[in-house]
Amino acid sequence: MMENLEQIADLIAQCTDCDLHASRLNVVPGEGDSNAEIMFIGEGPGQHEDRQGRPFVGAAGNLLDEMLKAISLSRGSVFIANMVKCRPPSNRDPQVDEILACSKYLDRQIEVINPLVIVTLGRFSLSKFFPGESISKVRGSVRYYEGRPVYPMLHPAAALYRRELKDAIYQDFKALPNILNDLRSSRLGESQTDHASTNTNEPPAQMTLF
Ligand code: URA
Repeated sequence: MMENLEQIADLIAQCTDCDLHASRLNVVPGEGDSNAEIMFIGEGPGQHEDRQGRPFVGAAGNLLDEMLKAISLSRGSVFIANMVKCRPPSNRDPQVDEILACSKYLDRQIEVINPLVIVTLGRFSLSKFFPGESISKVRGSVRYYEGRPVYPMLHPAAALYRRELKDAIYQDFKALPNILNDLRSSRLGESQTDHASTNTNEPPAQMTLF
């Protein structure tokens, strides 16, 4: 039987599989709708997130909220997660061993939510699906990872103080509703025709737009 998100969050709360557990105040498993069509994956909790046990509640989170609002979505209608569920000390980058130790939780969250699209925020979550790809080259277009649509975006924190990056991330955000619409029809087509493979790096045959 598949777990639910609360059960995964309970496992995360007890996790001591990497050193990050030692300095955390709270785990940040992620939050949102368990049936979300969009799953955002950031990097890892910062100070505010560590204090509150919630993802994206600092300055980058405010920008994420603002962008969601610009496309008439609320936080409650999406799911927001991170590559690592505990804060790296002094906001340093998460290390490979920490990302690997934590990936089992993210993988289970993806399996439970089964989103229509995964939106990667920044280079760490991009490299989970497309290692070695450059975010500035691949941002803003849908790619497929094991049959699952992934839409890479810049990290909102990168956009906070650089106008041109803020414009770019807004542009990518504003394309999301149309992308969702196309993916909805393609998923519907898949369930109706029953031919489409779910384990391919190629888009389904009926997907023409990207
Ligand atoms: N940056 C992230 O990547 N995740 C958060 O939760 C907050 C800031």
